[in-house]
Amino acid sequence: MASVQIHDVRKSFGGFEVLHGVSVPIEDGAFVVLVGPSGCGKSTLLRMLAGLEKITSGTISIGDRVVNDVQPKERDIAMVFQNYALYPHMTVAQNMGFSLKLRGAEQAIIDEKVNRAADILDLRKLLDRYPRQLSGGQRQRVAMGRAIVRDPQVFLFDEPLSNLDAKLRVAMRTEIKELHQRLKTTTVYVTHDQIEAMTMADKIVVMQDGIVEQMGSPLDLYDRPDNKFVAGFIGSPAMNFLNGELKVNGGQPWVETASGARLPIEAAPASANGKAVTYGIRPEHLEFADDGIEAEVVVVEPTGSETQIVARVGTQELIAVFRDRRSVQPGDRIYLKPRASAAHLFDDATGKRL
Ligand code: ATP
Repeated sequence: MASVQIHDVRKSFGGFEVLHGVSVPIEDGAFVVLVGPSGCGKSTLLRMLAGLEKITSGTISIGDRVVNDVQPKERDIAMVFQNYALYPHMTVAQNMGFSLKLRGAEQAIIDEKVNRAADILDLRKLLDRYPRQLSGGQRQRVAMGRAIVRDPQVFLFDEPLSNLDAKLRVAMRTEIKELHQRLKTTTVYVTHDQIEAMTMADKIVVMQDGIVEQMGSPLDLYDRPDNKFVAGFIGSPAMNFLNGELKVNGGQPWVETASGARLPIEAAPASANGKAVTYGIRPEHLEFADDGIEAEVVVVEPTGSETQIVARVGTQELIAVFRDRRSVQPGDRIYLKPRASAAHLFDDATGKRL
């Protein structure tokens, strides 16, 4: 195992810079998830860690060693790809043992390591099958098994679950997390799925347009997003945003919308009075009340354990989620009251948290 340091890394393709000085410290044994919208540069960063892409400037270290100029096979990492990249003409056992065979390991050692990985991943019964005889989830497990037998210092995962159906994704998510808890191998995992990031990571790195917007534990990012982008990206359904003007006149401050609704907040500096702000409130922090934000119910979605309501306020829509059942109908007029202690404020000019 090893720590990984990504320091001020830049990458240009043909003079066009796509990563603008990214620094990410990764502790030994951590599970770090790089997440962000398509094109933000997360796969490029992972490929640079793997050595599949050269860095334009900056340094990447694995353990005590700067690996900028170290060949992929010398980096002591194992990468699991989205398409699994299994050899079709090899059995599961041969696929898993292939890297050891290339290194010249004895067959008895290969068998022992393959069997141990097969036990961990529940693949024992499938060792003689060929990839085409496996389900998507089983193939994914073989790809992970191949990484495990190499006993690397670092695992890299590039969107490993994106080819699986929704149910299997959830199951594999748990498997990968359990695997990490068991092996404690430093892991860097790329996904565009923020739920995957939230549920698996010790640390999430949120990227956009080639920069790191914020990094921290999943709940830190959820509770204290540094800016509007992170606030909107982390959480599902997404945080509601309402524009308004901050009113700080002594007493409890609020944000006033153009339609005159008063959105409660706990505190704000007096110097910010009159500022144009975005008020952020998560769907679970809205409650029915006798006053507050007047809205018209547009859609009611009961899931059994929850009720999700989409409601229109002027030209905007708000989503509210209740952990119980609510008897409202589309067309009903309701009042939604935000919980003041759970409100987020962002400066309209910069998008930054106030
Ligand atoms: P996705 O989720 O869609 O895979 P990503 O966040 O992983 O996106 P990257 O694949 O890292 O994004 O791409 C980052 C940027 O670099 C994009 O603008 C992409 O077009 C560009 N890019 C990536 N690889 C190359 C390449 N080989 N040549 C030129 N541009 C590239």
